[in-house]
Amino acid sequence: MQDRQEFNEIRDTLRQAKIKVTHARLVIYRILKHAKHELTAYDIENISLKMNDRINIGTIYSSLKLFQTAGLLQRYKVDMEQALFSLKQFDHYSRFICNHCGAIETFEDSEIDQRLKTLCANKQVAYVASSLIINIESCEKCKGENDKNVS
Ligand SMILES: [Zn+2]
Repeated sequence: MQDRQEFNEIRDTLRQAKIKVTHARLVIYRILKHAKHELTAYDIENISLKMNDRINIGTIYSSLKLFQTAGLLQRYKVDMEQALFSLKQFDHYSRFICNHCGAIETFEDSEIDQRLKTLCANKQVAYVASSLIINIESCEKCKGENDKNVS
């Protein structure tokens, strides 16, 4: 079964990171692995619910903390209440965040990456990763809804 193979891979990743493997941690890691963008702890809870594999929010927070400490996870603070989490694979992604609905759109821009690397080189510091967050007034979806309201 493909699922089984994937779980084995995740199990190995966790073991390598010296994290004790539990069912909840496997599920949380898998959700993050399949995510197209960063997730909040509540997003993870909702997805686990849809998968009929509900994981309580306390377990999610403690697992995320473990993953983060082990260097598997990147944590972004969006505002006072919310934090976004993603596996390290999104390290060089930039993202638009809609001020209206909170939707996140990730994108890659090699020019931005290059510029940041040049900036670091000029400052004589080693570039590790970047996470550019651009807050926008409204995303395309919200703009669409506004237009509808007007007409
Ligand atoms: Zn929006």
